[in-house]
Amino acid sequence: MSAPTRRAFVGLGSNLDDPAGQVRRAFAALAALPGTSLAARSRLYRNPPMGPQDQPDYVNAVAALDTTFTAEALLDALQGVERAHGRVRDGTRWGPRTLDLDLLVYADAVIATAGLHVPHPGIAERAFVLVPLAEIAPRLDIPGLGAVADLLEAVDRTSVVPLDAGDGTP
Ligand code: ATP
Ligand code: CA
Ligand code: CA
Repeated sequence: MSAPTRRAFVGLGSNLDDPAGQVRRAFAALAALPGTSLAARSRLYRNPPMGPQDQPDYVNAVAALDTTFTAEALLDALQGVERAHGRVRDGTRWGPRTLDLDLLVYADAVIATAGLHVPHPGIAERAFVLVPLAEIAPRLDIPGLGAVADLLEAVDRTSVVPLDAGDGTP
């Protein structure tokens, strides 16, 4: 019997070593994961850093995956992709990084274990997550939070700017 396929949403972020290139290559890495296909990808967005301000702006995006991984195995795979992109964890919360992959939503699962919280706890407050998520899945109903489009109405999205809207990047 084959494993069931689930729809998952992953938030991508980078602010070091060619952030846009990191995010584009990360989409390809996600598409190449075993038992996984890339169902949708948002545009790339630039936005100011969260937390410490003495670091470069971020590039953020969201991917929709159809995957046979469990949520826990998918998190392991995401952390493997982060390491392959040179992610170094120095303990600084929200410090600069080459690649951050957050598991935002995994089907209709609600998970709260030591190493994994799904839906990701930051979603409702973060315009840099909600803007790209609404681009690819406006009607997504996030367990415990509601529809993405409604969540987006409640945040200030002015700082989240599409990357291809003004700097000439395709
Ligand atoms: P935030 O989670 O607030 O966006 P961050 O992405 O900077 O902050 P990390 O240092 O990347 O945080 O991750 C810290 C830990 O969070 C990871 O080791 C992982 O075990 C845990 N974690 C819990 N839930 C999730 C999730 N849904 N997606 C990714 N990591 C998660
Ligand atoms: Ca994060
Ligand atoms: Ca993370």
